[in-house]
Amino acid sequence: MKVIQIPLLRDNYGYLIVCEKTNEAAIVDPSEAEPVLRQVEKEKVTLKAILNTHHHRDHTGGNSGLLESLPLQVYGHKNDEYRIPGLTHPLDEGDEIRIGELKGRILFIPGHTKGHIAYLFENKLFCGDTLFVAGCGRLFEGTAEQMHSSLNKLQQLPADTLVYCGHEYTEKNLQFAMTVEPNNKKITDKLQSVRSLKAKNISTVPSTMAEERETNPFLRWESKEIHENLKSRFPNLGSDPVSVFAKVRELKDQF
Ligand code: ZN
Ligand code: FE
Repeated sequence: MKVIQIPLLRDNYGYLIVCEKTNEAAIVDPSEAEPVLRQVEKEKVTLKAILNTHHHRDHTGGNSGLLESLPLQVYGHKNDEYRIPGLTHPLDEGDEIRIGELKGRILFIPGHTKGHIAYLFENKLFCGDTLFVAGCGRLFEGTAEQMHSSLNKLQQLPADTLVYCGHEYTEKNLQFAMTVEPNNKKITDKLQSVRSLKAKNISTVPSTMAEERETNPFLRWESKEIHENLKSRFPNLGSDPVSVFAKVRELKDQF
């Protein structure tokens, strides 16, 4: 299995997933069509499917353009049947899809939108705008409770799971992470390495689930430092994981 990252729009990533045995491919979240078609041509693969993580335009904007040039299957969550352009295969938690000989599993992870899914191929997780490197998506359509349970589902994947997210937001996310957990050395170290990658114009995505558990403030509702930090600023805040997560999300919205 080969994954080719395609930078799209300002800070989006699309991912071309290729089955190297059959040369068949799928594109995760095509924000725009042209750069995807160029990559398909360059790699000499047969594009078979679009895999949308959710309905937002910066993840589906290229669907129509691709469908004009190629007959493609279009996958997305069943809640988004009327919001994802050209959807042919409505999916739900636990469904399996195939790209050539590659098998992908669907994880239903609402919160950012009510029809958000992730695609898991081997140890590679394509999670759209739910989990970012050192961050998570805004709660546009879901509750903090839903998002917390979706992130909890993702963080239980094995430590070596590669996290391929929808945007290059890493640096800003880590700057925020430092404000809620300033003594977490893993965060300061990661910010330093992310800055040197960015200076060389290298993507900071993917990361691993192990790194996310260590540095992502939206997965660290068990962190003593975060609890103490929030309690000192918001004495009435509950200490249960959802309250902690919701407060961190609220602070990030204002950051
Ligand atoms: Zn989105
Ligand atoms: Fe997005």
